Amino acid sequence: MNVDLHCHSDRSDGLLAPAALVARACLHGVDVLALTDHDTVTGLEEARAAAASTALRLVDGVEISVTWRGRTLHVLGLGIDPGNAALRAGLDTVQAGRLERARGMAESLADAGIPDALDGALGHAKNPAMLSRTHFARHLVATGKVSDMRAAFRAYLVPGKPGYVAHRWSTLEAATGWICGAGGQAVLAHPGRYALSAGALEGLLAEFRAVGGSGLEVVSGSHSEGEAASWTAVALHGGWRASRGSDFHAPGEGAELGGVAALDARLDPVWRAFSPAPGH
Ligand code: AMP
Ligand code: MN
Ligand code: MN
Ligand code: MN
Repeated sequence: MNVDLHCHSDRSDGLLAPAALVARACLHGVDVLALTDHDTVTGLEEARAAAASTALRLVDGVEISVTWRGRTLHVLGLGIDPGNAALRAGLDTVQAGRLERARGMAESLADAGIPDALDGALGHAKNPAMLSRTHFARHLVATGKVSDMRAAFRAYLVPGKPGYVAHRWSTLEAATGWICGAGGQAVLAHPGRYALSAGALEGLLAEFRAVGGSGLEVVSGSHSEGEAASWTAVALHGGWRASRGSDFHAPGEGAELGGVAALDARLDPVWRAFSPAPGH
């Protein structure tokens, strides 16, 4: 069974509309798909309608931006009720600062000799309120400032480089609380991306568990094979459920839908807790 519990539509920083995303997932053999847009659940209704006429099982999801000890983390909510009022109100607060931050990013890029980046980024975004670094990166690629998305996130948009603006997202406790309160499982997204020291990792996992976190995204489009192996060990050792997700954003940009390795058979997959569990 091909389970992909992490991807983005054009309601956040993906390129495809939710219905097109579902169609593409079917084409790539995905059996169970969670749509997990950044800080919004607005694509789920369209995705669900599209999935209704297919064999694909859609899981309602979201990926919430969190600031923890000064760094940005992402927490996936899987199997949430997208109508939950506290979750929706929480997501509204997380989204609120994006446009203001984008103005700051554009100013910083202008100082580095790249004018008009705000309009450029907006040209790649469906919803200005969801403007993200990805839209700026697509603009930098489209205008030939960099050769590809990876290069955009090396030379720009990251701490210490033009276009980066520090931002306060939600707290780990709030994001996890909204997810659990909406009946979902809270899963730490792509843990290999955070470059945590052993001490910071220990602190993060203890705090995440204390506030209700239950899983780690062990297999991710942004993990190497080695990282997947080491997060497998962390999950087994710590008794975490394990998730698998491509983190698909666009064709040709990173991993394909359903196109990542299988979970190690010793792991307890998060989807075993879905009701009814897929495959049963
Ligand atoms: P934001 O939420 O606006 O800070 O944007 C974060 C998004 O930028 C992530 O969800 C990724 O889609 C994208 N991103 C961050 N780092 C990289 C990277 N190194 N390569 C490609 N995309 C990245
Ligand atoms: Mn993204
Ligand atoms: Mn992420
Ligand atoms: Mn993601």
